[in-house]
Amino acid sequence: MEKRTATCCCGAAWIEVEGDPQIHGICHCGNCKRRTGSAFGMSAYFADTQVRAKGGELKLYAIAGGNAQERFFCVACGTTVFWRSGHFPGMTGIASGCITGAPLPEPTVTLCNEGRFSWLELPVHWRTSLE
Ligand SMILES: [Zn+2]
Ligand SMILES: [Zn+2]
Repeated sequence: MEKRTATCCCGAAWIEVEGDPQIHGICHCGNCKRRTGSAFGMSAYFADTQVRAKGGELKLYAIAGGNAQERFFCVACGTTVFWRSGHFPGMTGIASGCITGAPLPEPTVTLCNEGRFSWLELPVHWRTSLE
C-alpha cells in the first residue's frame, strides 16, 4: 500500500501513513479557516492503525467542549500537521495540504457548508454531510 508523509513548513515535524484515508473532506467552519488561514480546511482521516511513524518536536493545542480536539503543531514553524478529534474516535486527522508528495485521492465530502464562501465552486458529486 502507498505510504504518504505529511510534513510541516520547515520539514522538522512529520507523520507517515499507509493506504488511503477513510474520510477525506473539506470544512468551511471558522475554526478550520483559522487553522489554515485559508478559505476552508482540508482534512484526511486515517485509522490509527494506518499511522506508520511520526517525528519532530510537536506541541499540543487542546480544544475542549463539543468540538474536542488535540492538535499537534511544529514548535519551530507552527504548522498543524495532525490531530485527534472527538468526532472521529480511533482515527488520526491529517492536514491534507501537508502531503505534497503522492497526492491523496479527491475529497468526497464538504462540511459546514453554511460557512462556504459564495464564490467557491465545488464538484457537484461531493457529499454535503457524513450521514
Ligand atoms: Zn516545522
Ligand atoms: Zn471545520
